[in-house]
Amino acid sequence: MAPAVVGVTGGKGGTGKSFVATNLAVLLSREASLVLADLDVEAPNDHILLGLERLEGEEPIAIFFPLIDYSKCTACGACAKVCDTGAIVMARGRPPMVFPRLCSGCKACLYVCPYDAISPEGRRVVGYTYSTPVGRGGGFRLVTGVLREGEEHTPPAVVAAKRRALREAEGSELLLVDTGAGSGNSITAALQYAGLVVAVTEPTPLGLHDLRAILEIAQGLGARVWVAINRAGIGDDAPHERLAREYGAELVARIPYDPAAVKAYARGEPVVEACPECPSSRALGELAEALAGALGSLGVEAA
Ligand code: SF4
Ligand code: SF4
Repeated sequence: MAPAVVGVTGGKGGTGKSFVATNLAVLLSREASLVLADLDVEAPNDHILLGLERLEGEEPIAIFFPLIDYSKCTACGACAKVCDTGAIVMARGRPPMVFPRLCSGCKACLYVCPYDAISPEGRRVVGYTYSTPVGRGGGFRLVTGVLREGEEHTPPAVVAAKRRALREAEGSELLLVDTGAGSGNSITAALQYAGLVVAVTEPTPLGLHDLRAILEIAQGLGARVWVAINRAGIGDDAPHERLAREYGAELVARIPYDPAAVKAYARGEPVVEACPECPSSRALGELAEALAGALGSLGVEAA
């Protein structure tokens, strides 16, 4: 059975998407089988928010890397011309030099080399995925993608971690995906197959700006969107509600600014466990209940 895929995303960093995703995972795992995927590969922190001391089940993320056979290379320069990341550099009269950290593994150089001087077998490790059991709620697995420090390209790591999460979630009811910050290719890759996107925003002009970007992405993916306003009450969220309506999205939650949530966050404890009756926990509980009710109507296109 393929799981329903629900993405939690937030545009710029700091809107509280990981806070929402981890608390939802704890609440929903009491009723449903699920996997939480932390695809914020540059700065994954769901394990910290869940109080885990270490990640388990390490698997390397290996991508293509051009290994050049210099006995065949004529220094024609075709590979450098096609490489749009600047990973291949030619110096006059010399064979190409390859800078590993700039290489995205796209294979364009492999395909254009007229002398078969590039091996299709070359690989390099750009990061790792982990799968860690979490004892909180009813128990679930946390799949985490981690990009190696200094690497330039996040999409290969996101795609690898998403694949592992889909594999680990086989037979579960839900795959909850916590994306990275921003609205680029990595976010689109993380949200692929999502039947529902929970857009976490905050009642600020910057939050409104980023909400539009998320709504655009979700529209492109054909996903239904729910908007959750975090730190509700610190500013005016009427423009957010209007924007959501404009895109056919539903404003489903206002999670109030709550000092108890801030304290729990700092301790690495989900607020829904640390203070179940606090205002933010009650709002998260209502959001989890709505999500549980919608699970049956969310499918997965492919896995
Ligand atoms: S695989 Fe792509 S990014 Fe890497 S060196 Fe070749 S063309 Fe450049
Ligand atoms: S395309 Fe092939 S032959 Fe030409 S410089 Fe690159 S590796 Fe050498």
